[in-house]
Amino acid sequence: MTYLRDALVSRVGEFIDLRRDIHRHPELAFEEHRTSDLVAAKLEAWGYAVHRGLGGTGVVGTLTRGQGQRRLGLRADMDALPIQEATGVEWSSLKSGVMHACGHDGHTAMLLAAAKSIAQDVAFNGTLNLIFQPAEEGGGGAVRMMADGLFEHHPCDAVFAMHNMPGTPVGHFVFRDGSAMASSDYITIRVHGTGGHGAMPHHAADPVVAAASIVMALQTIVSRNVDPLDTAVVTVGALHAGQANNVIPALATLEISVRSLNPAVRGLLEQRIKALVAAQAESFGVTAEIDWRAGYCVLVNSLTETNIARQVALDLVGPERVTLQGPALTGSEDFAFMLEQIPGSYLLIGNGDADSAGACMVHNPGYDFNDDNIATGAAYWMALVERFLAH
Ligand SMILES: [Zn+2]
Ligand SMILES: [Zn+2]
Repeated sequence: MTYLRDALVSRVGEFIDLRRDIHRHPELAFEEHRTSDLVAAKLEAWGYAVHRGLGGTGVVGTLTRGQGQRRLGLRADMDALPIQEATGVEWSSLKSGVMHACGHDGHTAMLLAAAKSIAQDVAFNGTLNLIFQPAEEGGGGAVRMMADGLFEHHPCDAVFAMHNMPGTPVGHFVFRDGSAMASSDYITIRVHGTGGHGAMPHHAADPVVAAASIVMALQTIVSRNVDPLDTAVVTVGALHAGQANNVIPALATLEISVRSLNPAVRGLLEQRIKALVAAQAESFGVTAEIDWRAGYCVLVNSLTETNIARQVALDLVGPERVTLQGPALTGSEDFAFMLEQIPGSYLLIGNGDADSAGACMVHNPGYDFNDDNIATGAAYWMALVERFLAH
């Protein structure tokens, strides 16, 4: 399969320029109008049937060849972050306070580079859906596209997505079957008591003492309720109450972040947090109001599709550049929602290790996507299409 990569290297300059153009014009979640226009125009020019408007700025390009019934979905994200760029590169963001600090410019460019070469060079049998998604960074663009009928309009038997990974060598692929990225939920707890004079606490119901006790009680969930072999995080990141030393306030507020790597553990955390908070509040004669905001779900890669994805990488770059089962990550990713409905795999491609510029972590103002990945990443997508939609 190295011929795929060789074929791309000669024409990849176009997509390095494209990546840098997208980098100069970053757009925040659901505002990816310029990027969406650019993606749609390219796909149309290469002969894809283009469906726009899913999730607002989402774009799907579809190509069908032969009589095959298999349907493959490949997904790239398009949104940038509210960060002031500090890379100093020539193609730095032209938009103050907004930058592509997660490499979604590169993901879009890799999938477009693959799209062009697939349309021109790759023989396959079936239907290929290229999914360009808005708002991965907390906005839930995947969910919005699905709510707009993504998989009803464009059914897929499997879906795959690729994210760059700083700290891993360029051109190195990392796979993981099973739970690969964490769920993430956000909780606000308002503890309502009865305010009063600090000198007469017996006439008040003190929400500060109740909140302090809730913080301590929450620590027992991970240590006493979760299986020691499972991963879970309960972090109280903010605790606000009162303003003066001699006033008992009427309200205390807690902000909590909860993560897990297993849907069952996620359910257990919700059940235990709600039960503990209610019982603690009752024991102090106060009431607690819980605002539970479900974030991204656990990202679970299916075994069969991850094995296909692994084999493609082994054939493309050789075993020395493939990690077959990498560690799970406590970050979150909304491709998890697509994987809840359809089997598939989320894989990582190295952005550069230790001493290289590509080692700077994503979401850092000094981060930049490594253009050396475009040929390799695009060749990977082409090889996966050949394998999954073999004729
Ligand atoms: Zn990110
Ligand atoms: Zn990202």
